[in-house]
Amino acid sequence: MKVLIADDSAASRIMLRGALLQWGYEVVVAENGAQAWEILAQPDAPPMAILDWVMPYMTGPEVCHRVREKRREPYTYIILLTSKESKEETVEGLEAGADDYVVKPFNRHELQVRLRAGKRIIDLQMDLLRAREELRERANKDLLTMLPNRPAIASMLEQELARCHRDRRTVGVILLDVDHFKKINDTHGHFAGDAVLRETAARLRGNMRPYDQVGRYGGEEFLVVLPNCELEQAAHQAERMRTKLQSSAMMIDGVEVRVSASFGVTVSDGSERDPEVFVRVADEALYRAKASGRNCVVSLRLPQSTHAFAQPEVGSNA
Ligand code: GH3
Ligand code: MG
Ligand code: MG
Repeated sequence: MKVLIADDSAASRIMLRGALLQWGYEVVVAENGAQAWEILAQPDAPPMAILDWVMPYMTGPEVCHRVREKRREPYTYIILLTSKESKEETVEGLEAGADDYVVKPFNRHELQVRLRAGKRIIDLQMDLLRAREELRERANKDLLTMLPNRPAIASMLEQELARCHRDRRTVGVILLDVDHFKKINDTHGHFAGDAVLRETAARLRGNMRPYDQVGRYGGEEFLVVLPNCELEQAAHQAERMRTKLQSSAMMIDGVEVRVSASFGVTVSDGSERDPEVFVRVADEALYRAKASGRNCVVSLRLPQSTHAFAQPEVGSNA
């Protein structure tokens, strides 16, 4: 674990550094309060710090104050080193945000165990942060296809719409739904159906630009977000995906399964920013693709008035 030592006395720094290295810590050194603050303000700052009380430019308690104001994550565990031992000063140090203090001249063993107590807390916190990160990742992922799930892809669309609105660009949206998927389940079983969904996800992901995003929007429904994309390009992209899906049979448990999907495509017009509106238009286009025989692409522009939809353009259902 990395520990910052901040002390204006060279002798003190050498002594502390020697002891900490011996106890297995990595050491970063600062010669005054300003340097200490600079190091602790970095994103990869050491998680623990030993700060002298009196230092040029900024005192130990002042550095503490700043660190706590910044509320950096992960937490910085701070031990104040001081020759002041009056009760009021100890309280002042803790009030400034220190976690612990050691009175100079320090007792080596005492410092060693106080550091160990701090390290226990930091280790625990690291475990919690890792667990939280894992939960956050899981909350955004569909565990069957490993694609972003519905809330995650919806929020990506929302972010993309906001960004493209700022940059005056358009966002393409594709909503696709596997054709007669119920029949695949009925014929080959639910597990085979799951495998088809996984393979569908893989084929979709394998046929996108690196900055496009696809998520599982529902049972056998996927949403694709295409930043900086006009309607024609989005429809072209959907056509590529449609071809890729039906061009070769999927091998599921040694059985060939032919899969196709229907695609609804739309594009933002730069003014509308509500993701629900786009998904609704893409859904209307998808509905028309289903109605016109499935295994095809239908593009639909956002209606100018809220009620009337523009004339759809239907792609082939070869
Ligand atoms: P259409 O061409 O009109 O879309 O017909 P469809 O059969 O694909 O559509 P429908 O909505 O009638 O059926 C979808 C089926 O997908 C019903 C549901 O049981 C199944 N399904 C939903 N989620 C999963 C899943 O995670 N795994 C499997 N195996 N099946 C699923
Ligand atoms: Mg379906
Ligand atoms: Mg469906």
